Amino acid sequence: MSVYHKLDFSHERDLSADELCRRVESYYPDADFALLRKAYNFAEKAHEGQKRSSGEDYIIHPLNVAGTLIKLRLDMDSIIAGLLHDVVEDCDVTPEEIEKEFSTSIAQIVVGLTKISKIKFKTKEESQAENFRKMVVAMAKDLRVIIVKLADRMHNMRTLQYVSEEKQRKIANETLEIYVPLASRLGINSVKTELEDICLRYLHPEVYYRLAEKITMKKGDREVYIGETINIIQDKLLEYGVQAEIKGRPKHFFSIFKKMNARGVDFEQIHDILAFRLIVPNITECYKGLGIIHSSFTPIPGRFKDYIAIPKVNNYQSLHTTVIGPKAERIEIQIRTSEMDEVAEKGIAAHWKYKEGISGGETKLKWIEELLEFNQNVENNAEFMSHVKNDLDIGGVFVFTPNGDVFELRYGATPLDFAYAVHTEVGHHCVGAKVNGKMVPLKFTLKSGDTVEILTSKSQTPNKDWINIVKSSKAKSKIKAWLLRVERDKNIEIGKETLDKTFKLFDTSLKALLKSGELKKAQKELGAKSIDEIYINVAVGKYPSERVSQAIPELRVEEDPQTMTSKLEEINTYSKTLTKSAKRKTHKDNAVIVDGFDDVMARMAKCCNAIPGDPIIGYITRGRGITIHRADCTRFDIGDLARQIHVEWNPEFSFKHPVSIRILTHDRPGVLSAISRSLNNMNIGIRSAIAKSTTDRKGSFIFEIEVKDYSELLKTISSIEALEEVISVSRG
Ligand code: MN
Repeated sequence: MSVYHKLDFSHERDLSADELCRRVESYYPDADFALLRKAYNFAEKAHEGQKRSSGEDYIIHPLNVAGTLIKLRLDMDSIIAGLLHDVVEDCDVTPEEIEKEFSTSIAQIVVGLTKISKIKFKTKEESQAENFRKMVVAMAKDLRVIIVKLADRMHNMRTLQYVSEEKQRKIANETLEIYVPLASRLGINSVKTELEDICLRYLHPEVYYRLAEKITMKKGDREVYIGETINIIQDKLLEYGVQAEIKGRPKHFFSIFKKMNARGVDFEQIHDILAFRLIVPNITECYKGLGIIHSSFTPIPGRFKDYIAIPKVNNYQSLHTTVIGPKAERIEIQIRTSEMDEVAEKGIAAHWKYKEGISGGETKLKWIEELLEFNQNVENNAEFMSHVKNDLDIGGVFVFTPNGDVFELRYGATPLDFAYAVHTEVGHHCVGAKVNGKMVPLKFTLKSGDTVEILTSKSQTPNKDWINIVKSSKAKSKIKAWLLRVERDKNIEIGKETLDKTFKLFDTSLKALLKSGELKKAQKELGAKSIDEIYINVAVGKYPSERVSQAIPELRVEEDPQTMTSKLEEINTYSKTLTKSAKRKTHKDNAVIVDGFDDVMARMAKCCNAIPGDPIIGYITRGRGITIHRADCTRFDIGDLARQIHVEWNPEFSFKHPVSIRILTHDRPGVLSAISRSLNNMNIGIRSAIAKSTTDRKGSFIFEIEVKDYSELLKTISSIEALEEVISVSRG
């Protein structure tokens, strides 16, 4: 059977100049081997007496760096620069010496590498822009600088076990933040995936070793499975006369790790860990092969990607699909030509003409030039970064809707930001969110790859706290606009009421004065932009009501000004209390507002026990007022439409509502107290708790708790779900 012949970048202990020459000769027999040997001797002499942290002679490092460059089939300048890359930095060799002994372009690459090694990388997110600026400047002159640097970093990562733990984490973090995106942007997948896996090993060793164990544990079975699958695919293709070289292997650890994170699940639940690659002779056969695969196996909807028609920004081309394989397991299939495969593994290096070396144009890439130009024109790091971000697959957070649509949000974005990004109305009515299928609080921080589902309720409206939760300025301004509009509407109502009371003193009414056009005239005299503005100004006390009445000729007071003034004052005082208590005014004792009735008492139906945030319906009972049911209540008799009445949650109501939750746990000591502690920490009252052990050694609890509303319930459920012992939580 055939497995991927991945480029192997392992540390080679016994690498020698002879071996390097032999390897170059295999693909480039006319190379200048004398120059290669000269570079080796030069480096060995310069580094004489120096040791690596592993205790080995230092020369083993440049030898391995050159070895990696040979695996990537780079040109002789790069290989020699790989051998010499540390001599300016670590030994007292000058760039002029290198130029004299070798060539200007080799000296230039080495100088570029020395510059990069002097960059003090900052690890904080906001300094990433600065790091990239410096990298861009260093590699702008010659792209080979960055490829040699990647080879250097590869060997340092490969020998990371010899340095202190602190240094391991620092270097691994830097690699993940700086070098992985660069390798990805240059399309050098073989380097990118290898670096990612080593980073995982040092940054999340527990995950790495568990994956390694799981994947090797069933290695025998898996290889049999891969072999059988390849045969089945091969037969299908041959039926239609398509020749293909097929390889299969488990995906690299980091991509499995990313999947686990994205879906919020464990390794056991990741099924599509196997990837198969079909190498076919030409593009027509790629699509033909795809047709055969899709008609032989069931494709997973939404997983087909055509990077041949639309190549990735790093020139990667391939067809991707995921199907249900012959043994009912999900498998990922990539179909491409051998040229595409070479580009996929080696990226930009695949375009190198090692025979001719590189001259002029090819050492630079347009996007780097553009970045450099941009770099000179902006002072602002954030602006620069947003530009780099487009080019380098880093930066914001990319999250998915349940349908697979992608949204780009800024770092630190919350589900509420996402809701507003989807639609303003979705934002306004957001009561909760599920991330990767799990309930989360609204202030949860989203990560790239998260699938976000927003829960809404018609009765939900924005509140002031939301401004502190959201990160995007768009969401902030939407919330502010909403709050202002609500306040405006309230003030208009209060202004209307105050004026109507005022006008009643003069035996007329607001309605009459609107109709006669007198109020419109007053508007001009008062200098207000609209009649609504008069109402608002009355409500906030800017226009005392006598000022408005004085602006209307027929209301000008002549007789007994004393009595009138005191009456108007009374009205103004009333208006002020109205404005102040506007918030509390809305029947604060009622949990719900019943359409068209001011103070009808409503009762919560026992059958479904609605809590604020739930969609609800009112039901007019015979003789017992109105009962409130959840809209999805099964006992609610929807047949009797005449008795239904529109009701809304009263946003001012703040009593606690009882609700039951069922919790299933592993049967371990201390589970009950862990749950109670978690509830206490959230200030959730417990009314009662029933516990029992099930026969399959699980614990089953029913808690009756008191929550303010639906979003508090969601928060509570998600915090209990987060407990280690807990298997599931549901509303009882
Ligand atoms: Mn080095």
